[in-house]
Amino acid sequence: MSNTRRHTLYSARCFHCRTSHFNENGILLWPDKDAAVNAALEEGWLMHRGRLYCPTCIADKQHLPPKQRKKL
Ligand SMILES: [Zn+2]
Repeated sequence: MSNTRRHTLYSARCFHCRTSHFNENGILLWPDKDAAVNAALEEGWLMHRGRLYCPTCIADKQHLPPKQRKKL
């Protein structure tokens, strides 16, 4: 590999189960972290105390604090 350019791409990842944000085409990658997080939030992910949770974990709710559970 002679490519010296750095390509740092971000994908939103669930804090709980470590699942990456993906659609039917694969994992969604973004040029910056904010874009990755925003895209995930638009698809039902949740940011809680700086931690991102996927819809599956939100549906579980077990790991979320009681206050947050009520909100969902
Ligand atoms: Zn998750």
